[in-house]
Amino acid sequence: MRAIASISQSALKHNLSVVKKKSPNTKVVSMLKANAYGHHIDLMSPIIEQSDLLGVSEILEAEKLRKITNKPILLLSGVIEDQELQQAIQLNCQIVIHDKTQLPIISNTKQPINIWIKINTGMNRLGLSAHEYNTCIKLLENNPLISIQCVMSHFACADDINHPINQSQLNHFKKLTHNARKRSMANSAAILSNPASHFDYIRPGIILYGVSAFGMTDHHLRPVMQLSALIISIKTVKVGDSVGYGATWTAKQPTTIATIGIGYGDGYPRHAKDGTPVLINNTLCPLVGRVSMDLICVDISNTQANIGDRAILWGAQQLRIETIAKHSNTIAYQLLTNVGSRVNFISAL
Ligand SMILES: *Cc1c(COP(=O)(O)O)cnc(C)c1O
Repeated sequence: MRAIASISQSALKHNLSVVKKKSPNTKVVSMLKANAYGHHIDLMSPIIEQSDLLGVSEILEAEKLRKITNKPILLLSGVIEDQELQQAIQLNCQIVIHDKTQLPIISNTKQPINIWIKINTGMNRLGLSAHEYNTCIKLLENNPLISIQCVMSHFACADDINHPINQSQLNHFKKLTHNARKRSMANSAAILSNPASHFDYIRPGIILYGVSAFGMTDHHLRPVMQLSALIISIKTVKVGDSVGYGATWTAKQPTTIATIGIGYGDGYPRHAKDGTPVLINNTLCPLVGRVSMDLICVDISNTQANIGDRAILWGAQQLRIETIAKHSNTIAYQLLTNVGSRVNFISAL
């Protein structure tokens, strides 16, 4: 009965090779934060083996990742107190400094550490100002226990190729970091669209998982997660009959309805609109009525289907997750990271 998320190992390899072709001489920090964008880190070995560093947001994630690999881990949110610093050192993390309050913690280290410095170039979320950056360098560069590995920044609008802030951030970054030994700026969208931003380390995320960095389907990438669930009931409704909570959808003609065992409790978006496609026996069939916690209803009048047949919710050539994101007014990143614990994750070819 359980919904299945099958995680394609060959698609992971393929997508990483697309990244490496785009930037052959650059080191790769693969982003495995949020449990590998919801794909489960324990199913990521093709990525883990072929990356130079692995990026996570916080220490708990670093802890889980360290149980399965010895690769260097980049801790993006850094540390907020000495105890976290000790944990990060024990886990052999490279630690990002993105706020001036982290400076005294880092500079008082009693053990050798590798750090990255994040500067703010216009996104105004994390990162040191130009002035703070200079202070930071002065304070840390002569400390024999601290090795500054790389200076990084993050684009606010890399997915909007022509947005003027991209060039402004890049100029700002170059100006501030011309003395830096190593630099890193590019996320997925910038890897694909802006070679001038690649520098020494690229930081791919969403494209590793086969999802477009620009919102529309990218046929060079292969979807990694295929989410599917079983048809558990089929019935025919008459003209005027409604389907689901709130009776929001009403049949205009006699309609065959399949009820499928997946709902928002599994991470299928509650806001998916009527007409959102579901792939059943190679036919795209429209969602009807509201998504429930455990179930959705689909109009299968145009296909032949039986109880026990598997419906694909996303992650097929004919049904990419970008389409589901559009129909539910969100982004693929959110859909992927919301797939619930009731779903059975399996490794697939
Ligand atoms: C998540 C993240 C990325 C990857 O972003 P994508 O859009 O998924 O490629 C890169 N850099 C930082 C700092 C991030 O937090």
